[in-house]
Amino acid sequence: MTALNLVNLTLEYPDGEGTMTALDSVNLSVNPGQLLSLVGPSGSGKSSLLAVAATLIKPTSGLVVIDGVDATGLNEKQLAQLRRDKVGIIFQQPNLLASLTAAEQLTITEHLRGKSVKSAANRAAELLELVGLADSAKKHPHQLSGGQRQRVNIARALMAHPKVLLVDEPTAALDHARSDSIVRLLRQVTDEFNVATIMVTHDTEFVPLTDCVASMRDGVLTAPVPALSGSAAY
Ligand code: ADP
Ligand code: MG
Repeated sequence: MTALNLVNLTLEYPDGEGTMTALDSVNLSVNPGQLLSLVGPSGSGKSSLLAVAATLIKPTSGLVVIDGVDATGLNEKQLAQLRRDKVGIIFQQPNLLASLTAAEQLTITEHLRGKSVKSAANRAAELLELVGLADSAKKHPHQLSGGQRQRVNIARALMAHPKVLLVDEPTAALDHARSDSIVRLLRQVTDEFNVATIMVTHDTEFVPLTDCVASMRDGVLTAPVPALSGSAAY
């Protein structure tokens, strides 16, 4: 089954007297275990697409279906629950809480949800090990490098066993070597957790690490092509 299905999505923002079309009849499906690169010039609508797919913004028209659940008819509370249970969101800036350790960044949400603190702590430890930070569990954000903070961010997004991972320019603030290892980590977690991942990137050299690539221009999305053979398309 498709993990994420976007059907004929249109998003218009108010713009002076009229509107501007940030998403223009976008269709996209991403399957479990698939890593899709989303490329396109600045202002073309990539972040808007992720925000709508994450149900953070309601589309003007069209459907967002996450793991078989149509978000259209849901109220805010139901949407928040859908996001929590099924969607991992990773933005460019990790947005970690300065006063918490790496492990606590991962457990705080589960803790607030009233889940078993012990099982959350166990999962946090597993995920920190997976992202290469087993030795840094007790460090605070200021004691971590930019790449390490992004790894904590990725581990945090995986805590609730999401079906869909939405990643916006995860390497924008990192040097080449760190960017490469972050994209490889996203590849690994997509495979290992069988999650459907969309990664917005301007670093087209990392596209071959992904399965397919779709490009956006003026709110219009091209159909995805295989990442290796489709190099002419991006
Ligand atoms: P990208 O991520 O590809 O740079 P965005 O999705 O951020 O593109 O933006 C797409 C278009 O929508 C741009 O023209 C941008 O100025 C506009 N836009 C984005 N967010 C808003 C908003 N909250 N209100 C009005 N216009 C917006
Ligand atoms: Mg953007």
